[in-house]
Amino acid sequence: MGKAILFSAPSGCGKTTIINSVMNGGWPLAARMAFSISATSRRPREGEVDGRDYYFLSCDEFKARVAAGDFLEWEEVYEGTCYGTLKSEVERLWTAGKVVVFDVDVNGGRNIKRHFGADALSIFVMPPSVEVLEQRLRNRGTESEESIGKRLARSAKELEEAPLFDVTIVNDDLQRAVEETKQVMEQFLEK
Ligand code: ADP
Ligand code: 5GP
Repeated sequence: MGKAILFSAPSGCGKTTIINSVMNGGWPLAARMAFSISATSRRPREGEVDGRDYYFLSCDEFKARVAAGDFLEWEEVYEGTCYGTLKSEVERLWTAGKVVVFDVDVNGGRNIKRHFGADALSIFVMPPSVEVLEQRLRNRGTESEESIGKRLARSAKELEEAPLFDVTIVNDDLQRAVEETKQVMEQFLEK
């Protein structure tokens, strides 16, 4: 078994932005890591690519993979929309000798941490405030009003779970948050 670093937070807190900055910004340690591509039953957003951002499955395909026991963990994160980590994805990246980086919802993060224990670092990305979170979700321009409502409704409970994670990174100034993230990742990898 290899090492894992997982990022959790309510939708819109900046997980994807921080992960992309850490992984694609020329940081030498990033070469040791690889992003775990999740499966989802939601439709691709504009610009998202199957097999790069997610493995996009139909609801029926997703259910069949659940029944086959193919998932390490999965959640119906929003009503009717499932997300999950395929066992084959983690094995593929560990076989390649990589530290696996996850972007998962708060429940998924807790489950993966429980599964991997000390081999995993769990990072909670905290927005500066709920108002800023709402603004960022709107500014991202990817969600309908209904979808924004579902995401915000879920966020209050998720924010309460931050203390259950190894580290909390407040994503106010992005550059500072990225630097702090790199520091905690480096400390974990040195252990
Ligand atoms: P998540 O992956 O957690 O759903 P995203 O990474 O998609 O969140 O970020 C949500 C939106 O907020 C995006 O439009 C992103 O560009 C913006 N954003 C992320 N971090 C910051 C920051 N520190 N300051 C301002 N805007 C940010
Ligand atoms: P989005 O639709 O914004 O890409 O993702 C919505 C939520 O699903 C985010 O909180 C994201 O972290 C979560 N998510 C993405 N992949 C997985 C996964 O494999 N497992 C779990 N549990 N959640 C995931």
